[in-house]
Amino acid sequence: MTLQEQLAQLRDTFTKQYGCQPTHGAFAPGRVNLIGEHTDYNDGFVCPIAIERQTMILAKPNATNTINVYSIGMEDHPTSFQISENLSQGEPQWGNYVKGVIYGCLKQGINPGGFDAYISSTVPLGSGLSSSAALEVAVATLAADMAGQQLDVTDKALLCQKAEHDFANMPCGIMDQYISAGAIKGCAMLLDCQTNTPKHVKLADPSVSVLIINSNVKHQLSGSEYPQRREQCETAAKHLGVKSLRHATLQQLQAAKDNMESVVYKRALHVIGEIKRTAQAAKLMEQNAWEQVGKHMYDSHQTLSRDFEVSTNELDLLVELAKEMGLSGGVFGSRMTGGGFGGCTVSLVKSDKAQQISDHICKAYQRQTAIKPTAFVTRPAQGAHTLSL
Ligand code: ADP
Ligand code: MG
Repeated sequence: MTLQEQLAQLRDTFTKQYGCQPTHGAFAPGRVNLIGEHTDYNDGFVCPIAIERQTMILAKPNATNTINVYSIGMEDHPTSFQISENLSQGEPQWGNYVKGVIYGCLKQGINPGGFDAYISSTVPLGSGLSSSAALEVAVATLAADMAGQQLDVTDKALLCQKAEHDFANMPCGIMDQYISAGAIKGCAMLLDCQTNTPKHVKLADPSVSVLIINSNVKHQLSGSEYPQRREQCETAAKHLGVKSLRHATLQQLQAAKDNMESVVYKRALHVIGEIKRTAQAAKLMEQNAWEQVGKHMYDSHQTLSRDFEVSTNELDLLVELAKEMGLSGGVFGSRMTGGGFGGCTVSLVKSDKAQQISDHICKAYQRQTAIKPTAFVTRPAQGAHTLSL
């Protein structure tokens, strides 16, 4: 569905629900991380793009103090709440993302006033493409517009991140909200998580596209995997005498290897290598050195799987299938993306072969696992904007 088609459908749905035309609108994209996994909480680099899938919200002021929001696909559970400085979590679950953002806006003196709204999204929910950040950033963009105020990219991203921490109980980094709020069409973003500063990296070559394949497997986690890895990284940094693994080198790590617990060593081996790779990959992208970018992606996958141990058999298989097609088949590189234990792979492919590559990998994957994957091809999309209606 194109942006225009999505807008037309949503406008229609809004009008049927509220019996009037919307006056304000905003959209914000989902994202995929090209490289830089489990580096954010180690003060490292990440390198995401915004994808051509977005969350859109249309609204009209309702001259009350109440915010009413429907979402397509969840029509039976609209969210409705009074604007107040004392907003807190409640039902439905998804409404907490909206509430958290409005709460953050009010804290900054941005009051959109009561409104009626409708949301639609082409970002698949819960697939690791950050539908949650797209929702938050779309709401923040709308609220600022309705209040007639400006909210710059950094403030918007921080406000939305805080909403996810405090209202959705998800202690996420800043990447998702930052890229959704601040992406530039045709560019990836090299984000320095130590200082929260972005650098836009041109992916100018239209002959290269990004293929996202969802393994459609999500492994049940005990919940301790993520905090455990954070802890192991902190232990490694302490052992090496640095503030965070951003400040350690592979030479330092090798020298300390014999005195380190082997699991801690392996975690650090991934992170230190990955931080370096991510900065290098961004440089190589600007030079259109796709083969070398791809090699970094394969290396990233290898250490995520072997040393950081967050991959799955299904993700490994998807990467293996991409690798088998190789350069002659139009594949530059491939890796798991997101926190791991399921979700998607991201591959860099030749645009004119992208569909063929996707079909081939999906068929082979389904044959071997009996699981149907889902896939789509994207170029780097633009970040959040208001819609002129
Ligand atoms: P991801 O961000 O990877 O898609 P999350 O679990 O972080 O997965 O966020 C998914 C949740 O965000 C959904 O369960 C829902 O509560 C909320 N959400 C995202 N998009 C929408 C939407 N368009 N409408 C309603 N809720 C949404
Ligand atoms: Mg999310």
